[in-house]
Amino acid sequence: MDRRKFFNGTAAAAVTGAMAGCAAPAGMQGSARTPFPVAGTFIPVVGSDQVFPVRRIYCIGRNYRAHAIEMGSNPDREPPFFFQKPTDAIQFVAVGTAPDHPYPPLTKNYHYEAELVAALGKGGRNIPIATALEHVWGYSLGLDMTRRDLQRAMGDEKKPWEIGKSFDRSAPVGPIHRVAQTGHFTQGAIWLKVNGQTKQNANLNQMIWSVAEQISKLSDAFELFPGDIIYSGTPENVGPVVRGDVIEMHIDGLPNLSVKVV
Ligand code: MN
Repeated sequence: MDRRKFFNGTAAAAVTGAMAGCAAPAGMQGSARTPFPVAGTFIPVVGSDQVFPVRRIYCIGRNYRAHAIEMGSNPDREPPFFFQKPTDAIQFVAVGTAPDHPYPPLTKNYHYEAELVAALGKGGRNIPIATALEHVWGYSLGLDMTRRDLQRAMGDEKKPWEIGKSFDRSAPVGPIHRVAQTGHFTQGAIWLKVNGQTKQNANLNQMIWSVAEQISKLSDAFELFPGDIIYSGTPENVGPVVRGDVIEMHIDGLPNLSVKVV
């Protein structure tokens, strides 16, 4: 289910409620009305009628040693780097389902990247590593889907690689689990299978930059806010999928996430 269907579906009442809590932008107070509706992005929260409002999607690049090496960089010398996806790139994937995930246009090399997703409930600037995890409201798991050929081609030309990373439905994600119920995810298996065959298989403790370090580093560059989510990087052995493939990913302590590429 993508966010548009979600928006129009059973959770519409909750979404409307959540939107009602938003402040109107400057100059739009009073009786101002928008000429047409634009959907917000919300991720359901497990065991709750709440939905998590997504403000920004940050993603870290090359955050596992072996993946950094397979992407052609030196994991020992590179500071962390980040990119963003638009919030409407979210494709919400309910537990126990394998919704259709459309193979996107323009690519001939469409890759999966399995990632832990941290969802912030508290913002800030220049957040110290020691207190950074206090900003995490919940966790999920997600796919940083990538048009690898376009990403590489743009990188080779020193152009922005948005077209490779930040396209429609490039961010499938499961429901948010509140940290109060799950604790923090600093270790545990992360794996991904295609059609039942293991492709990625690593441990969260192999991240080069921990979630706490990512929050701290990000907050030096951007003011963070509640609703920001962070895709925390993928392990090695990224690879392609084609139409008909079923992707299943797992992180210890979370229900698996599956999509079918169509
Ligand atoms: Mn990634």
